[in-house]
Amino acid sequence: MIRNAAVFCASASGTDPVYKAVAEELGHALATRDIGVVYGGANVGLMQAVAQAALAANGRVIGVIPEILVDREVAHTGLTELHITNTMHTRKAMMGERADAFIVLPGGFGTLEELFEVLTWHMLKLHSKPILLLNINGFYDQLVAFLDHCVAEGMLKPKAREILIVADSVQDILLKLDLIPMPQDKFDGKLL
Ligand code: AMP
Repeated sequence: MIRNAAVFCASASGTDPVYKAVAEELGHALATRDIGVVYGGANVGLMQAVAQAALAANGRVIGVIPEILVDREVAHTGLTELHITNTMHTRKAMMGERADAFIVLPGGFGTLEELFEVLTWHMLKLHSKPILLLNINGFYDQLVAFLDHCVAEGMLKPKAREILIVADSVQDILLKLDLIPMPQDKFDGKLL
């Protein structure tokens, strides 16, 4: 059983209210299953929505934010734990270390960067933690199609493509998480 899940998501809320609603649904669902939320520590956008919903359900929320973003993204001061790191790299290494699984909600460059970083770490066998894309509203349809295109063009190995698990609802995420054995690796970011 997963103890902590890292949630990567936007610092914006998006135009359609469904994004915020699903972010809240995820935060609530993780908390009620006693799965701690590890996230970027911000008090804005979908990140705030996940954290608030998990806290409201008495969940554990661990924020990890680099010093440079403390003001810009308004570090959340009501979390179970807030870690302020010197750099973006140490932040991401710490999030990777603390999480047993990665869940990716809609987002922009920051979210995509985090997604591709954990995918490449997995591909390089630096960790074996599950990576789940929550494809709300078909938000990531084109990205998933593009990855299949990468495979068809011989740029991405089918085995590597399989690392990314695509889910279309919070229920689907929970179901898929239940089927995945707890990763045993102690990823400590030292190999990065
Ligand atoms: P975005 O999806 O662009 O709204 O970004 C979501 C969050 O990802 C940002 O607010 C940052 O906290 C985080 N993030 C992670 N890696 C980076 C990076 N290399 N540059 C900028 N933001 C990043």
